[in-house]
Amino acid sequence: MPLESLNTSELLGKCPVCSSPDLQARLQVQDKSVSQETFTIQQCGGCGLQFTNPRPTAAHIGRYYESDAYVSHNSKAQGIVNHVYKAARFFTVRRKVALITKLNGGQVGRLLDYGCGTGHFLARSKSAGWQVTGIEPNPRARQDAASRVGQPVLDASALAALPAASFDVITLWHVLEHVHLLNETLRQLLAALKPGAGCWWPCPIPKAWMHSTIARTGLLTMCRATSTISCRLLCRRC
Ligand SMILES: [Zn+2]
Repeated sequence: MPLESLNTSELLGKCPVCSSPDLQARLQVQDKSVSQETFTIQQCGGCGLQFTNPRPTAAHIGRYYESDAYVSHNSKAQGIVNHVYKAARFFTVRRKVALITKLNGGQVGRLLDYGCGTGHFLARSKSAGWQVTGIEPNPRARQDAASRVGQPVLDASALAALPAASFDVITLWHVLEHVHLLNETLRQLLAALKPGAGCWWPCPIPKAWMHSTIARTGLLTMCRATSTISCRLLCRRC
């Protein structure tokens, strides 16, 4: 059953990153897991950003994540794909922790994971010696993460109150493409980094073969990923 979408979406007249009005339709993708709605992906002629437009408003997008099958927010998600995901996660969270420790000069320190989901990476980082802080907007995932990590996990409102220059590493593991206010969010996160510290934000790249193929076959629920972002664009913002 499609979700009620009346008055819950917004049409952007300019790029949310560079403000260019040169927007061209690139792709149409159906959300087959929750709403069954079809979304249009537009590309900015100014910076190359691809994003869902129209898109659900920030106040209403939470409903599109309310699925028992969405493993990033629900540790009890079943199905063969989710079982494979969980098996792979066992190894990938360890590789991620090793990576950030290496990139931090082999030292542990203060870590913020923005959009920590159910907290697997955060918990592994804490047991490796990192002093961790997690932010997660989804209430169910946040509760799950707090239980797993053994400490409170903050909601999205905490972003504006982060102490300046206080983190050695900030991570957003496939989170930035779900963010509505890209520039503002990055500005606030980068202000919370210590001078010379690192911020890591893996996200979909428009020309990547795998991403493009998945999107065209409709397996990617683009309403959840409001944008795909080129590394070149983001690197200019480092
Ligand atoms: Zn742009």
